[in-house]
Amino acid sequence: MSTEQQQQVWPFSVASVVEDMLQENIGTRPRGVDLVASRKAEETSLRRYEAAGWLRKTVGVVGGKDLPAEPSEEEFRLGLRSGIILCNVLNKVQPGAVPKVVEGPGDSAEVPDGAALSAFQYFENVRNFLVSIEEMGIPTFEASDLEQGGKSARVVNCILALKSYSDWKQSGGIGTWKYGGNLKLSTSGGTKPFMRKNSEPFMNSFSRACSGDPSSFDEQFNDLSEAGASRSLNVLVRAALSNKKQEEIPNIVESMLNKVMEEFERRLVSQNEQMKITAKDMEVVASPEMPLSRTSSDTRMEEETSTQINTEERCHQKGTPHEESEDQLLKQQALVERQEQDIKELKLALCSTKEGMLLLQMKHMEEFNNLGKHLHGLAHAASGYQRVLEENRRLYNQVQDLKGNIRVYCRVRPFLTGQASRFSTVDHIDEGNITIITPSKYGKEGRKSFSFNKVFGPLATQEEVFADTQPLIRSVLDGYNVCIFAYGQTGSGKTYTMTGPSELTEESLGVNYRALSDLFLLSDQRKEVIHYDISVQMLEIYNEQVRDLLATDGVNRRLEIRNSSQNGINVPEASLVTVSSPSDVLNLMNIGLRNRAVSATAMNDRSSRSHSCLTVHVQGRELTSGTVIRGSMHLVDLAGSERVDKSEVTGDRLKEAQHINRSLSALGDVIASLAQKNSHVPYRNSKLTQLLQDSLGGQAKTLMFVHMSP
Ligand code: ADP
Ligand code: MG
Repeated sequence: MSTEQQQQVWPFSVASVVEDMLQENIGTRPRGVDLVASRKAEETSLRRYEAAGWLRKTVGVVGGKDLPAEPSEEEFRLGLRSGIILCNVLNKVQPGAVPKVVEGPGDSAEVPDGAALSAFQYFENVRNFLVSIEEMGIPTFEASDLEQGGKSARVVNCILALKSYSDWKQSGGIGTWKYGGNLKLSTSGGTKPFMRKNSEPFMNSFSRACSGDPSSFDEQFNDLSEAGASRSLNVLVRAALSNKKQEEIPNIVESMLNKVMEEFERRLVSQNEQMKITAKDMEVVASPEMPLSRTSSDTRMEEETSTQINTEERCHQKGTPHEESEDQLLKQQALVERQEQDIKELKLALCSTKEGMLLLQMKHMEEFNNLGKHLHGLAHAASGYQRVLEENRRLYNQVQDLKGNIRVYCRVRPFLTGQASRFSTVDHIDEGNITIITPSKYGKEGRKSFSFNKVFGPLATQEEVFADTQPLIRSVLDGYNVCIFAYGQTGSGKTYTMTGPSELTEESLGVNYRALSDLFLLSDQRKEVIHYDISVQMLEIYNEQVRDLLATDGVNRRLEIRNSSQNGINVPEASLVTVSSPSDVLNLMNIGLRNRAVSATAMNDRSSRSHSCLTVHVQGRELTSGTVIRGSMHLVDLAGSERVDKSEVTGDRLKEAQHINRSLSALGDVIASLAQKNSHVPYRNSKLTQLLQDSLGGQAKTLMFVHMSP
């Protein structure tokens, strides 16, 4: 271990321990307390020795025989008590300063307390000395200071001042001698002052180190001068052994060394204790900033500390050499340093983690903002989509309008099986025109052409007839009203077009079924955007009375038509049945037909003398906007249009015929006034036009199939 390391680790040296033990042994100071006082006492005796040494040197061996070279306080006092040495010395320094020195008997020193000399003699010499000294400007003392209990320090002071004066005089007496000015307590010129500089600083530094101020270690130990220490040790060793017999010395030295060893160990242990407390304090200070989880370095440190303590205990028990203890101390210090380093690293890690978190937070905020922007854009796009959808609806309606709000199609049914098919009134059909032959008339008058939106010949399938109706179904789902009529004489194929033959197959299904199937299909395609509710009513108008064909109780009540209804249902009393599939519709149509058939038995083929109306109500709710749209479709199978000759019929049949004629001409009037865009449309002239008012005119679409028998 280098001296530097030793100084950094221990606040005491081997020399200082030995010194302290010697002091204790001599008894100049009590162990561990009042060390400053003991230093002072030591200094005092050193000054006394200096004074005695100078006196002896100045008066010579014979003259100074009564004064030992290193006298105790008592010896010093007794040696100077007669005043003879003092006066002789003074005369040497300042010849003739004391003209008459009273000399005592030669063996006076052997008589205790100078009994051989009279008190007067003492007084004379001492008084003469003191007077002269005072005259020279040298600090004096009281004569009583030479008596038992006197202040011998003042005597020493005086003698050393005189010595200083003498030195000054010998060196040529340049300037004026002034006490205290050049008074230096130096024994020989050029050497360091004879002061125990090391002991006091050591004690201070030791106490400071114990109170936890390590900063003062180095500066204090720099004061430990080797020369000073060894010199003071010499003095102490001599003082300790001076009055001991030769044969006792080895034992004394041995016991002394043992004591030194014990003391050294005691200090090491207390120093270790101190270090541990300091280390613990540092841990406590550091812990609040430690992360919650135990790091590997924590565990490492703890392990090291425990091994450290174990080794220490072993060392103490076995009394291992000091070097090992020194090593332990060094290790402990290194441990503390490493802990400090670890704490620093942890702090740094915490800092960087905090920074990382802040960065992450900022990134999140940024992403959140971006998300907000995107969402905003998306909402904008959605509202744009809604606008486009609306626009699309409007444009589609316009296209339908351009095709005409009222369309009339002609359908010629084929010859029925068993009918003679050689001769048909239909001459030829081309697209929208049909030429009819009237067999009774010839030439130009025998042929008449009629124009329609479209003419379907006898071979036209149910599917082909429906194809032109299909675009109107979409209009119903877009919120428009649609009316589809089947017009024609009894047996011309109205029911066939609207419903189909009595034996239904997939190909022979009529417009009603196909229209509803299409409604379900389209509403399903739009289900992501709009939710549709579809419900149906089946009504019959017979003799200007509205009846419910879906009435389950079998009572055929007369129903009122209310055109002011909010929900588009103008016969609220009639059964309204929700449907969600084509099979639902089929079941309902069967119920309706059965109800009509029941009436027919009683009324004799009533079906051809009444209008039947299948009304489909559609209510759609847009999922995003919540907007509700309503549309309705009337599928009307009109009563037979054949003219009834009034003269031929009476009673119920006449009444029936009158109602049919009136309602059909009312329908013709309404359609004619709509076609001419008249301001007044006579809806109120019949139950039929009243019922269909919402679906005739305005933006409503009307489609009429005019049926013909071949
Ligand atoms: P309306 O309802 O006008 O009184 P129907 O629909 O009952 O006439 O038709 C009369 C008969 O003619 C029915 O037997 C029907 O099946 C048949 N019929 C009508 N139109 C067609 C057609 N396009 N193809 C085949 N048979 C038809
Ligand atoms: Mg019919």
